[in-house]
Amino acid sequence: MNVLVLNCGSSSLKYQLIDMNTRSVLAKGICEKIGIEGSSLTHKPTGKEQLVVNQPMPDHKAAVKLVMDALLDKKYGVVKSMNEIQAVGHRVLHGGKFYSGSILINDDVKRVIRECFDLGPLHNPANLIGIEACESLMGSTPQVAVFDTAFHQTMPEKAYLYALPYEYYEKYAIRKYGFHGTSHWYVSGRAIEFGKLDKKKSKVIVAHLGNGASISAVVGGKCVDTSMGLTPLEGLVMGTRSGDIDPAVVQYIANKEKRSVDDVLNILNKKSGVLGISGVSSDFRDLEAAAKSGNKLAQTAFDVFVYRVAKYIGSYVAAMNGVDAIAFTAGLGENNGAARKAICDYLGYLGIKLSAKKNQIRGEEVVISTPASKVKVLVIPTNEELAIAMETVKIVKKLKK
Ligand code: AMP
Repeated sequence: MNVLVLNCGSSSLKYQLIDMNTRSVLAKGICEKIGIEGSSLTHKPTGKEQLVVNQPMPDHKAAVKLVMDALLDKKYGVVKSMNEIQAVGHRVLHGGKFYSGSILINDDVKRVIRECFDLGPLHNPANLIGIEACESLMGSTPQVAVFDTAFHQTMPEKAYLYALPYEYYEKYAIRKYGFHGTSHWYVSGRAIEFGKLDKKKSKVIVAHLGNGASISAVVGGKCVDTSMGLTPLEGLVMGTRSGDIDPAVVQYIANKEKRSVDDVLNILNKKSGVLGISGVSSDFRDLEAAAKSGNKLAQTAFDVFVYRVAKYIGSYVAAMNGVDAIAFTAGLGENNGAARKAICDYLGYLGIKLSAKKNQIRGEEVVISTPASKVKVLVIPTNEELAIAMETVKIVKKLKK
């Protein structure tokens, strides 16, 4: 079965066409600057030359059309007709409290995605346009929604409830939802499998450390807590996001700088995090280079980031009353051994011992702790596209039964 995985961001669309019989990627690519001047498609068919199309894309529908054309193209294409794509899996940001799993898309599902526009204002509208574009271009091909929030729906009330007047939860569904769910699900599952942990009882912490960063506590394969909240702003320090701060800071900056709450939220989302502290970059590679050449604030930003991750790990060990494994994933978690070491240096009290040699291995699943370590530490490369395709196949197979 060939599954097309679509991930529509606010102004981008990432895609992969995966042959699920062999789990191989037939083609992948990205449309950038959708709705903005200078939009382009970069299409990478496996084993063929890449195609770059610079062409205006006024909306996500135009982008989906361009992707389909590329997939079917005589020279750069990988399928001969649309019938060779048997299903589409959509990454959808917010499913509110309505979905705790992936679901076949119908009118009800689209209504819920629409109802969650307020909760995911940048992504949910783009996700819905992507879905409707596929409906109009692909007719009855089954489409599945895989929600970023779904894996975290098993959190207990004590973890997801904010200590606000309860009526706000009842009236507006204000609570912690959590994000990066597909990655936390995939990586915790692989950590249990690869780390040979008990499927029902193991206590795993997943640290998804990329430009966006989040952490989750998973008991027996089910999420019991996670760091992101109502929106992906809460929790860890990120590339450009502040993560946890005293909410009074918002009012304080608004008053001092004579800015609106929306403006301050924009600062917390786009101009804060390691970029905000360092003034150098949101990319940890730039930060590392700047720190090495003596930029003190770049080093401080790295230290603040690492410290926050270590504190969250400590709090999740307390929440689960123990931990069997910690799994690092995403751009930084997979590639930056120095960050992993710095985080684990805080965790000596847990009996964690890293193998300096194993901590250098890249691009594969690996246990980076020594056999003497009381907690297994792993690197598990995340694969959100494959996870979405796996979910899609699961739902479509049920449909056929
Ligand atoms: P992601 O959002 O998962 O793509 O992760 C992006 C972050 O991962 C950026 O801050 C990068 O600096 C970091 N990253 C990605 N690749 C590498 C690498 N090869 N070495 C160090 N950091 C990396």
